[in-house]
Amino acid sequence: MIYNSDIETMQLPDLRKLQNQRLQALLIRLQQTVPFYKNQWDAAGIDIAEISGVEDLHKVPFTKKTDLRDHYPYGLFAKPMGDIRRIHASSGTTGKPTVVGYTQNDLNLFDEVVARSLCCAGAQPEMTLHNAYGYGLFTGGLGMHGGATKLGMAVIPVSGGMTERQLTILQDFKPQVICCTPSYALTLGECCRDRGIDPHDLSVKYAVLGAEPWTEVVRQQVEEHLKVDAPNIYGLSEIIGPGVSQEEVTEKGTGSHIWEDHFFPEVVHKDTGEPLPNGEEGVLVFTTLTKEAFPLIRYWTNDICSIYYDSGSRRSHIKMSTIKGRADEMLIIRGVNLFHTQVEALFTEFDEVSANYQLLVDREGNMDKVTVLVEPQPSFQDLNAAQLATKLSLVIKSTIGLSMQVIVKDPGTIPRSEGGKLARIVDRR
Ligand code: ADP
Repeated sequence: MIYNSDIETMQLPDLRKLQNQRLQALLIRLQQTVPFYKNQWDAAGIDIAEISGVEDLHKVPFTKKTDLRDHYPYGLFAKPMGDIRRIHASSGTTGKPTVVGYTQNDLNLFDEVVARSLCCAGAQPEMTLHNAYGYGLFTGGLGMHGGATKLGMAVIPVSGGMTERQLTILQDFKPQVICCTPSYALTLGECCRDRGIDPHDLSVKYAVLGAEPWTEVVRQQVEEHLKVDAPNIYGLSEIIGPGVSQEEVTEKGTGSHIWEDHFFPEVVHKDTGEPLPNGEEGVLVFTTLTKEAFPLIRYWTNDICSIYYDSGSRRSHIKMSTIKGRADEMLIIRGVNLFHTQVEALFTEFDEVSANYQLLVDREGNMDKVTVLVEPQPSFQDLNAAQLATKLSLVIKSTIGLSMQVIVKDPGTIPRSEGGKLARIVDRR
């Protein structure tokens, strides 16, 4: 089912026209309401009358996370506080959190894009959603909740954590759809197996997973452990929250549709900021075309991916590839650029390897050294750990071009953080 067929299948020339109209109105509004943008454009000598459409956007400066922090908490809001109906904030692992606000129209827009995303992921009205994203300042919980309600689903607001309770709810409340992070879906799958719960006895058909980078390895394991289809959902609080883009459940592996009537994407070079042609990998940048309270022009997400049109798809909107990682997460090891997801992707060839792994980065003398810790699948009882480590090391060397020591650990022994998350990179240099 397509939630908003007129928009989601709109022909590209019409979509461009809509984007251009929306962009021009937005630029005029921001020039009048947000001093940051007026000052930035004046300083760069930009006359917004000359930005006639999205193809001119590259002339406008980026907005970066530091700009949001410099105007903490409400300095970039384009509406008075009396018009704001909700405030969220991103986790703020470094420094102060990033604060975002929504008018009632923004919340309606949030519901719309999440409803589109859920449909694209396989959900339908009258199904039940087990919502295991955190409720609170994080946009995941309330964001998915609003969109599912708009779609006509029954929402179970489980929120994160308390895995035992989640398993009881999955067994007894019989939801057809679950949404959570991919790592939590893995945890749920492992717990089902440990407790002898047969996933065939659960009614879950679709697991809508996102909020962190993940790969086909994790997808395969979640789909196998929970007997579900697991399409990707992507988003970030600055742009709206979850529902910026969504993978179609029948087109898994081909990328996620960006709802570009609202969020106009560009991909730019991570060092020079130059726009890159479709299909090339770089930093994803968004302009929110319709948001009222907290619009952003050319927001530098720091997420690395490519964007491209897929003529074989049912929907016309542009797709983005899976996120390789954040630009600031890229390791440079002996001159080679490395994302942890590149190592993870190699595990697909090894049934005996789980998605629980960690890269330890050390410096010995002048040399960077990477050690890969990896846990095997517990079902592989008589595994020869040393042999597996050698095989993995060889594949890494021949594919990525770097020598790494691989250590196969016992299942469950790589340290997890509080929420059960595994830090993929521990940089000890
Ligand atoms: P933060 O993590 O910065 O506090 P958010 O909670 O808004 O803020 O998280 C947004 C970020 O999470 C994105 O910029 C991206 O790096 C990551 N993310 C979200 N969804 C996905 C996804 N499906 N795949 C990969 N990364 C994702």
